[in-house]
Amino acid sequence: MMTKSILQSHLVVLVACGIFMASCSTVPVTGRKQLNLVPESQMLAMSFQEYTTFLQQNKVSANKEQTALVKKVGGRIQGAVERYFAEKKISDQLSGYKWEFNLVESKEVNAWCMPGGKVVVYTGILPVTKDEDGLAVVMGHEIAHAVAQHGNERMSQDLLAQFGGMALNEALASKPEQTRQIWMSAFGVGVQVGALLPFSRTQESEADHLGLVFMAMAGYDPRTAVPFWERMAQMSAGNAPPEFLSTHPSDQSRIDQIKAELPEALKYYKQ
Ligand SMILES: [Zn+2]
Repeated sequence: MMTKSILQSHLVVLVACGIFMASCSTVPVTGRKQLNLVPESQMLAMSFQEYTTFLQQNKVSANKEQTALVKKVGGRIQGAVERYFAEKKISDQLSGYKWEFNLVESKEVNAWCMPGGKVVVYTGILPVTKDEDGLAVVMGHEIAHAVAQHGNERMSQDLLAQFGGMALNEALASKPEQTRQIWMSAFGVGVQVGALLPFSRTQESEADHLGLVFMAMAGYDPRTAVPFWERMAQMSAGNAPPEFLSTHPSDQSRIDQIKAELPEALKYYKQ
């Protein structure tokens, strides 16, 4: 397990942006510069492979009603993301996407989105999402992490830290198991509590911000994000925090920030 201060990760980006000029990109909405060393084509190839493997090794829900809801909410958020990117004239960033939304049987209170729009929602989070709006909060947030390329950013930082910036295909060939571990932790997939590298505070607030806009554009009331994160916070007040909470700290400052961003998100909702 490894943690980095915000200052350190900024330094890594600054230094690496100097070394790898072509490898820095800009996060939509916030305009923040980020380090993405792994070519998108490699991220997508690995994503599609790992997603297929995950679905083979885990039990896809047989509950037709709940599955249909996950696919419905996912499809609506996908539509919102595509409109948003088209308006910003950055649709090329979504060109390799093969959107897919699956509900998987698991007690874990978790959900994630791998590059290329490969989403998994765990049945364990449904009691917390409660309804369609709550599901839209979670899926909007996870899809926001993906389209802001947070996984690539985390992969890049970890490949740099562990293998000195070795290319993904090179790392996979020489250290396949470690590289898969880096991948799994970058996307929060099937790991034990405490084994996850937490998403940075910056990435979390970006995903909250962008997620609110996407859910609003998809026709869901962004104000429902507040009670959702309050329910998550209540859960974390219990004993061992579930996986979703280890990567998604539900504190008052997050809820306060979401409240502050609601007026902007509501403009998209009213349209
Ligand atoms: Zn998150």
